[in-house]
Amino acid sequence: MDPYFQGKRVIVTGAGKGIGRLLCIKLAKSGAKVIAISRTTEDLDNLKLEDSSIEIHTQDISEWSSTRKLIEDIGLVDMLVNNAAVDRKKPYLEIKEEDFDYIYNTNVKAAFNISQAVVKCMVEKQTGGAIVNVSSIAGINAVHSIGTYGCTKAALDMMTKTMALEFGPHQIRVNSVNPTVVMTKMGKAAWSAPGVADTILKRIPNGRFAEEIDVVDAIVFLLSDKASMINGIHMPVDGGHLLQFF
Ligand code: NAP
Repeated sequence: MDPYFQGKRVIVTGAGKGIGRLLCIKLAKSGAKVIAISRTTEDLDNLKLEDSSIEIHTQDISEWSSTRKLIEDIGLVDMLVNNAAVDRKKPYLEIKEEDFDYIYNTNVKAAFNISQAVVKCMVEKQTGGAIVNVSSIAGINAVHSIGTYGCTKAALDMMTKTMALEFGPHQIRVNSVNPTVVMTKMGKAAWSAPGVADTILKRIPNGRFAEEIDVVDAIVFLLSDKASMINGIHMPVDGGHLLQFF
């Protein structure tokens, strides 16, 4: 239990697997009232079995209207974590319009839609709040064959900055975390081919990939009152991966 999180209402998107799932469990253990949104009901049922205090909603957040209605029905929350994201690893010339829309609709448009509904409520009620956008180091440096995903993360980082600027006066803080590779479902799909992981590992001074808990701890810190003067940043969680050219 953490007195700061006691009773705080927190929405986490992409809560069914990986980083989002662990984040929900950690926040619930800290005393928060977690509202978990994800696409696969089975994952959410499994999360509920792990911690029955967690409220679960099956929702494909790339669907604008039904997602907006869900967030409006949930009403006022103290915190939001835009964590859900998708990728289709393909070289630039092979990306089709359908791939582009698929990646942007979840990674950017849904985060915008959900944030707008959440912030409107916070501003109306003058409660303040904290938002963390789960971005990536791929939004900062170019990574071959995940360029479209990288563009969405750069867009998300700019959304972080503009939201921080516009909503700081309402005591709403907005920050990004930018992890390196984490071997979740998404991480394995992109980076587990023979030889690929080793090449990346050589570029990480700490000599390992991030674990889910490394990212979760950074998110929890940015949501907490310990980060009360931190607003509009992109925090790499990358063991120094971004530091070197050679
Ligand atoms: P993950 O294991 O693939 O989990 C993502 C979760 O988001 C899944 O539960 C997925 O549901 C859900 N989701 C995806 N699209 C959704 C949608 N449209 N509506 C509702 N739920 C949706 O991914 P992860 O590795 O934990 O990634 C979490 C965040 O970290 C993402 O923002 C990702 O970009 C970022 N990140 C990951 C890495 C990495 O190497 N893993 C590195 C840097 C940043 P379904 O499985 O049911 O589709």
